[in-house]
Amino acid sequence: MTDFAPIESLDPAARLPLQFTAKRRGKAPRHLADLPLAERRDLVKEAGMPAFRAEQLSRHYFTHFSRDVEGMTDLPAAQRESLADLLLPELLGEVRTLTADGGDTVKTLWELFDGSRVETVLMAYPGRNTVCISSEVGCGMACPFCATGQMGLTRNLSTAEIVEQVRLAAKACEDGSLIGEPSRLSNVVFMGMGEPLANFRAVMDTVRRLTDPAPEGFGLSARSVVVSTVGLVPAIHKLREAGIPVTLAVSLHAPDDELRDNLIPINSRWKVGELLDAARSYFEATGRRVSIEYALIKDINDQAWRADLLARELNKRGRGWAHVNPIPLNPTPGSMWTASERRVEREFVDTLRAAGIRTTVRDTRGSDIDGACGQLAAAVLTEGR
Ligand code: SF4
Repeated sequence: MTDFAPIESLDPAARLPLQFTAKRRGKAPRHLADLPLAERRDLVKEAGMPAFRAEQLSRHYFTHFSRDVEGMTDLPAAQRESLADLLLPELLGEVRTLTADGGDTVKTLWELFDGSRVETVLMAYPGRNTVCISSEVGCGMACPFCATGQMGLTRNLSTAEIVEQVRLAAKACEDGSLIGEPSRLSNVVFMGMGEPLANFRAVMDTVRRLTDPAPEGFGLSARSVVVSTVGLVPAIHKLREAGIPVTLAVSLHAPDDELRDNLIPINSRWKVGELLDAARSYFEATGRRVSIEYALIKDINDQAWRADLLARELNKRGRGWAHVNPIPLNPTPGSMWTASERRVEREFVDTLRAAGIRTTVRDTRGSDIDGACGQLAAAVLTEGR
């Protein structure tokens, strides 16, 4: 399990602001990232300002990762505050930031307007930086090996609450607070708290903000965005129909229904065969190889015969369409589930490779896996702030 140490805030200005200490109900405040550019323009116009101010504001946000209106010197000083009130409310207040892996992994717990908390993990790798973002507060999928699953679902995040996690990560890269020198955020993975496809509309709007060029969005390549799912089959088809070729990651964790029914409760609704068929059809439509995530859990799902069964299930749907990522389980504190032994992990991987399946063992950096998501939130929730 990764050891995290507290550090000073990445951005002292982002420390938990006072207004976040009051618990509120209702919808998250409206933010420019919730809206397409045309609607941002309409709002600015309705407020009595020139519509192009929406473009200026959007460029500051999506290109310079800034929401500090005082620094936006191309905006008239008299309009800055009104524009900020209209389209740039504060959405995430920093509760705690921890670092691991020699500073290459930074995990931040955020508090939202209603007192809910979610986490984001930013990871530096040679030549790329990846942020792992949350899409829901908690999760309703109830996977028994997962800390977030034990919390249940509180609510979906709004589009802007998800986009803000990315904006703050991009800013930390640009500022040099991640690796000590300015760098760029290159990859976004929806593998934090929550089942992304259960919050479909907000997640798809977020994908649009990530991939649309400025001033509409950040202009990231769809290839560098990964959307994960435990297997909401109709939503996989909807994702395919949306026509944005993000990478799909299926958190499979078992190739047989008998075990998967227990590990992933939603499997009682959509079985392994149906899920792999949907994943295969996603590959056919997008040309994007599907990632099969497989948390290796000691004596539960790590037998060589299961690797063999997984290979057969993938190969019978064609060659080369899926890439398996076995991940040693990052255990939840107090859980009976633990990571497989190295020898068993090797045998599992060798069995897959011998059957012609592309296989890469993923590291357990931060919360880079579904099985670890929610750990920081769970810890802080139990001890209080
Ligand atoms: S593993 Fe993913 S889908 Fe399952 S409970 Fe955890 S966050 Fe939800």
